[in-house]
Amino acid sequence: MLDSIRLRVRVDRHWHDSVLECLRAYIRIPNKSPAFDPHWEQHGHMERAAQLMAAWCRAQPITGMTVQIRRAPGRTPLLLIDVPGTLVGCVLIYGHLDKQPESHGWSPGLGPWQPVECDDKLYGRGGADDGYAVFSALSAILALQEQNIPHARCLILIEASEESGSIDLPAHLQAIGSALGEPSLVVCLDSECGDYEQLWCTHSVRGVLDGRLRVQVLSEGVHSGLATGLAPSPFRILQQLLARIEDPLSGEILLPELQVDVPDQRCLQLRAAAGSLGSAITAKLPFVEGARPISEDPGELFINNTWRASLLVTGADGLPVADAAGHVLLPEIALRLSLRLPPTCDPVLAAAAVRSSLERDPPYAAKVRFELYESIGGWDALPLAPWLERSLAEASRRVFGREVRHVGCGGTIPLFRILRAQFPDAQFFVTGVLGPQSNAHGPNEFLQLDYAKRVTECVALVLADHAAMITAGAGALASVRQPSTRNRQEFPRV
Ligand SMILES: [Zn+2]
Repeated sequence: MLDSIRLRVRVDRHWHDSVLECLRAYIRIPNKSPAFDPHWEQHGHMERAAQLMAAWCRAQPITGMTVQIRRAPGRTPLLLIDVPGTLVGCVLIYGHLDKQPESHGWSPGLGPWQPVECDDKLYGRGGADDGYAVFSALSAILALQEQNIPHARCLILIEASEESGSIDLPAHLQAIGSALGEPSLVVCLDSECGDYEQLWCTHSVRGVLDGRLRVQVLSEGVHSGLATGLAPSPFRILQQLLARIEDPLSGEILLPELQVDVPDQRCLQLRAAAGSLGSAITAKLPFVEGARPISEDPGELFINNTWRASLLVTGADGLPVADAAGHVLLPEIALRLSLRLPPTCDPVLAAAAVRSSLERDPPYAAKVRFELYESIGGWDALPLAPWLERSLAEASRRVFGREVRHVGCGGTIPLFRILRAQFPDAQFFVTGVLGPQSNAHGPNEFLQLDYAKRVTECVALVLADHAAMITAGAGALASVRQPSTRNRQEFPRV
């Protein structure tokens, strides 16, 4: 049985003595993801960040551990740490080391590449998203080993293209191949938390559909006194077309292809989480004075944000800026449309439905074209195995004295679909430290240090329970595979 007090002391000491210094050095490196630094390879920052983390990992006293930086031409590196287990079976722990760009508006004294510790927060780009992950993973394993608690083989995979849609991850996974083994548990340390008071698990993410809707009525702009009442305005046609997709009063998405039945279990989980957070769900948004959220029911808001489709117009072509506009019937307008899709919505069917709704039977036979940029599906975790559900609940109670919360994520993270495709039967424990004000993609990003350490403890507890489940026999979990010889294979050096 894992001693909770020793666990806390060990994790706190390790973070204090070893982790923080390396995390500060990591924040100083401007290793932006390839989407934000196309010349990342020449700049060498990504390599430095990977080398820094690899050197730290190698210095940890873990017997038999191998640490390698895997490379492939033109692709970002992948840090892979293989910790042998004392049991059969395998756990994959995921994090990433690439970063978002600087962003503007950092408070005086703070900056993206400048680690600053204040009020138990470590400010700087990439500490919370997602630099802490590798440290958390190895700290948890070390804490288990110190108490002689068995664990399965742990493969820690730290990629460097997550902020660019994990573009390089599938190729790395393919290159590693069967040496990945068959993890029965995937621990993903790159998600959100609703507050810093309990363990938060992410059970789903939404998809996204992006495109440009163009309406042409005239071949050139015409004096509005001459043209209005004779020709329709492209703006009015756009309003009609958008109303085919979204109820303009309620914001509800009307196409059946973009609606899913929210599973009862997910509704219960989201309403329970909403009960914990209450109005804090919307308090994070910068409403202007007097403006209010879409609903007063926190449960509805959570479900809206994570399990229902929504439409945004995020850009426009053909509209002059207001101060430069004349009395002109504009010839054409194009709008950039961004739709979030429910986790289980089929992105291909959704795209076809959106296009045909927008293009069919155009009002006044105007020229209407919807150009699809991308349609990416979401992700919904498999139902939690009983052992994991219990383990997460107990971990939150032991570490925080509060209930675990399971929530969806309103954004889109391709990573989960990639991992699910690779490990279709694995259980997922998805958590993170991106809580209120941590502002991962904006200014003043911080890592809440105490919370990161407590999440580390939770990871240790779940790894211990995973091992106990294996020891107790596979009967407790149908998805646990029998030991495979592949699990013991050495990685080819790249
Ligand atoms: Zn991240």
